[in-house]
Amino acid sequence: MKSKRQVGGHVSASGGVELAIDRGAAIGGNCLQLFSGSPRVWARPELSKFDAKKITAKRAEKGIQSIITHSLYLVNLATEKPDLITKSMVALAFDLKFDAHIHGNGVVVHVGSHQGNGWDVVRERVRNAIAQLVEEAPEGATFLIENAASQKGKIGGNLEEIKWLINEIGTEKLGWCFDTCHAFTAGYSLGKTQHEGSAYTHTAAEEIERLGLWSTLKCVHVNDSRDPFASGRDRHANLGDGLIPPVDLEYFVNLPELEEVPLILEVPGIEQEGPDAENIKRLKKLAHIET
Ligand SMILES: [Zn+2]
Ligand SMILES: [Zn+2]
Repeated sequence: MKSKRQVGGHVSASGGVELAIDRGAAIGGNCLQLFSGSPRVWARPELSKFDAKKITAKRAEKGIQSIITHSLYLVNLATEKPDLITKSMVALAFDLKFDAHIHGNGVVVHVGSHQGNGWDVVRERVRNAIAQLVEEAPEGATFLIENAASQKGKIGGNLEEIKWLINEIGTEKLGWCFDTCHAFTAGYSLGKTQHEGSAYTHTAAEEIERLGLWSTLKCVHVNDSRDPFASGRDRHANLGDGLIPPVDLEYFVNLPELEEVPLILEVPGIEQEGPDAENIKRLKKLAHIET
């Protein structure tokens, strides 16, 4: 039986989405993630530069099942600075239009940081911003909140925050993305291994189950961690080369709830050039995918 499972990596979209599809397929992926422009500048290309027909044809040719867009790193919907919120909203509105235009599978967003003010102080602001974005987004666009490592007041380290936003906003256009490195350093065990030093008593899977968050989980970033459990840090490692117990990562990616969810690598790569064939190979082995 042909596996329905999707594995892939974040690839460069330099030169266009078609080239990103070539790159994603060349490393052995059947799904991929990309940026719609540079993740470190606000400016975005014209939407008309992207030929949806060509992208769809290339995607079919290369067997790419999902294309996830990652929003830029400058976004902060929890800030007190109105101009930063405005810029963030403009950038995210573009990415949502881009997602719908290329028939993509969602825009992964680092929602931002409360910068020490606390979740309770910023949550309504964040909710209102996301609610407006999804309301105004075209049909077919999906906003995916990514869990964070909890560093520097980042929203979404605690999965309850994601649950609250999804519940409050309540639309099919909103889901979330789970990053294994972020969850591990935020203090969620990915498997059965008991670690010390976390505020959480549940494992990641137990917590997702308890919060009813499986059905809205649309993407998983499979990354190992250079930093220890509950360290609050965010530095990805190649699979098997970091501090996440391999048996826990294996347990997590084989949960039946993830069978049809794209598994996407955001690892440094053996040559430090991003997700590569070697990490795809490791991921397929981990996810029991025959090659
Ligand atoms: Zn991630
Ligand atoms: Zn990260």
